[in-house]
Amino acid sequence: MTVIYEKVALIGLGLIASSLAHAMKRGGLADEIVGTTRSKETRDIATSLGFCDRIEETAIAAVKDADLVILCVPVGAMAKIAAEIAPHLKVGATVSDVGSVKQAIIDAVSPHIPEGVHFVPAHPLAGTEHSGPASGFAELFDNRWCIMTPLPNQSLDAANQLEQFWRGVGSNVERMDPAHHDLVLAVTSHAPHLIAYTMVGVADDLERVTEKEVINFSAAGFRDFTRIAASDPTMWRDVFLNNKEATLEILGRFTEELFDLQRAIRRGDGDQLHEYFTRTRAIRRDILEAGQDTKEANFGRE
Ligand code: NAP
Repeated sequence: MTVIYEKVALIGLGLIASSLAHAMKRGGLADEIVGTTRSKETRDIATSLGFCDRIEETAIAAVKDADLVILCVPVGAMAKIAAEIAPHLKVGATVSDVGSVKQAIIDAVSPHIPEGVHFVPAHPLAGTEHSGPASGFAELFDNRWCIMTPLPNQSLDAANQLEQFWRGVGSNVERMDPAHHDLVLAVTSHAPHLIAYTMVGVADDLERVTEKEVINFSAAGFRDFTRIAASDPTMWRDVFLNNKEATLEILGRFTEELFDLQRAIRRGDGDQLHEYFTRTRAIRRDILEAGQDTKEANFGRE
């Protein structure tokens, strides 16, 4: 139990913030956790769940005297909150975020950060398709990666302290250039989500989903797509609007490969298909070996 920040303020109280609060409590990382969010309904749920020591009605009240402020709202909402809290931040405080894209947040938030306050962006590569304050749990970040994209003009001490914090909630930490982060995530998360949304949309367009066939006979492939495609619409809208270039680059490459495989199927080129699937299978093995997913059949589902 090592206190890393005396007072931590969480702005937004959904999956990520509530998981952070649970993990902070588990590790004894903060003396006080203060939370706030825009809706009374979510504040009431968070109060009843008790993962924060105090819930405030406004972000301004929540950040008062906070040593660490973490923005846990959708990417498109970060700048407005940064502008609102800026005059009320303690000198020497660190502001961070958990947004799924980095360069757009840096561009939008940095101008609001006052002199004497450190801004250290971060992104935990951990999540589920559930959202809201009741979906959080202390183990969410265990053995998952948190990518920090500290800015060259910002304090190294502040970045080191934040790294200690993320390690304290169970994460492995890597530092990266923000543009590189956005490209990596376009490959590993953003484009796959769009593909899942599209596949489920195609099934829906066939108007079979409601006719039970797709539901009852959903094999592992489609079922896994539907899990991903159930992710929060606001969060994902903002991800695509704010990681445009990298996502479009990866989707361009995806489309080319898809056409290539399509041609192999049309030509009956089994060798090409087999070779391709053998290569992709190895990636799954590497992910398992890195401890980033379960070896259990069917992803460990009962
Ligand atoms: P969530 O469970 O949907 O919670 C979102 C929170 O943000 C709620 O407290 C909500 O407030 C608030 N909010 C929504 N729109 C807002 C707006 N326009 N202005 C102010 N507050 C707003 O979301 P989450 O999954 O925790 O995601 C939060 C952040 O973490 C996002 O930036 C996301 O990109 C990032 N992230 C998510 C995942 C994931 O898998 N979910 C993983 C890594 C990073 P009310 O409830 O009061 O309406």
